[in-house]
Amino acid sequence: MNAIKVAINGYGTIGKRVADAVDAQDDMEVVGVTKTAPSFGCNLAVKKEFPLYCTSDETKRISSFSESHFECCGGLSNLLSIADVVIDCSPGNVGSDNLSKYQDAGVKYIFQGGEKHELTGLSYTSSANHTENLNAEGSRVVSCNTTGLARTLVPLYEYCGSLNVECTMIRRAADPGDSKKGPINAIKPVLKVPSHHGPDVMTVKPEIVINSLAVAVPTTIMHVHAIVADLPENHGLTTESIVDLWKGTPRVVVMHGGGNRLTTTAEVMEMARDIGRKWGDLHEIFVWEDGAKLVGDRLYYFQAIHQESDVIPENIDCIRALMGVESDWRSSVAKTDAAISRYYSL
Ligand code: NAD
Repeated sequence: MNAIKVAINGYGTIGKRVADAVDAQDDMEVVGVTKTAPSFGCNLAVKKEFPLYCTSDETKRISSFSESHFECCGGLSNLLSIADVVIDCSPGNVGSDNLSKYQDAGVKYIFQGGEKHELTGLSYTSSANHTENLNAEGSRVVSCNTTGLARTLVPLYEYCGSLNVECTMIRRAADPGDSKKGPINAIKPVLKVPSHHGPDVMTVKPEIVINSLAVAVPTTIMHVHAIVADLPENHGLTTESIVDLWKGTPRVVVMHGGGNRLTTTAEVMEMARDIGRKWGDLHEIFVWEDGAKLVGDRLYYFQAIHQESDVIPENIDCIRALMGVESDWRSSVAKTDAAISRYYSL
């Protein structure tokens, strides 16, 4: 089988990670990445030997790359003409302008969680709806928070048959490489109530009833979710069996916080850096075992999300779904993770 030809439009925080994850797979290849203009991110693409293109087809913008001594292979149209699928990693709400370009070029497309579900009418996260995405023309990998919620809630839903969830997203104020955003000394409630995060889970698993609130806090390293889930009567679960369920779930790490002194996101990310993945990423959702408790039919738990990386492997699985090359989500996840992850248990 020929390798799937993947274009990455927008080589920023998510785009550079997706490019490396594609490059690590044996059934797909990076045919090019785009930048809006010559900038320090171009050096990384050159170092990795990814063909560099401009997000625009304008001659002036394309030639600005060579003026800065970067070899630019052309504009977005040139890149799309050699791709089977494009991963749109442009900033949130920007991607919608690109949709018609992808459709006109006849390539499949994957957007990120910064775009609305309505743009594609189809969203993706591996454990929730891989099958629904098989052979589709395009989809949207849901946001880092939605991905995190789906990772732990979908297996619970599948065991119980119903779930009613309230959760609070304690969001990092900015990505680590971002110097523009805040707050730096305040807690900022998201006044759009409920926040979009919980309801977004229903774009991939409509059967889960879920609402959320969100607050932004002055940290850059992770989001934390405080989750309250009401299980149906006679669910037959205990706190221990729920923890075991998560331990058997791909891309979920369950660890003792107190016993391991992993009581904050700072220590969780230090552990992730010890693992030695690129950029110190943690693709898994981190659940504190000693922070989970079932009281009657109500489950309480905390989880932490590495915002720049949990969606990366999901993009790889979404490529396989759209291209119709792997119908079983667990097989795709295992293949993806074997190529990009080296996890050891502390
Ligand atoms: P970013 O700003 O780090 O990178 C975006 C890249 O796209 C930059 O290189 C920018 O130059 C380029 N770009 C700008 N305009 C473009 C255009 N018109 N067409 C193509 N590329 C363009 O952003 P990011 O954090 O990588 O976010 C990308 C998407 O991923 C957004 O939808 C975001 O919501 C989503 N997302 C981000 C995170 C995260 O933690 N950063 C997590 C999950 C999902």
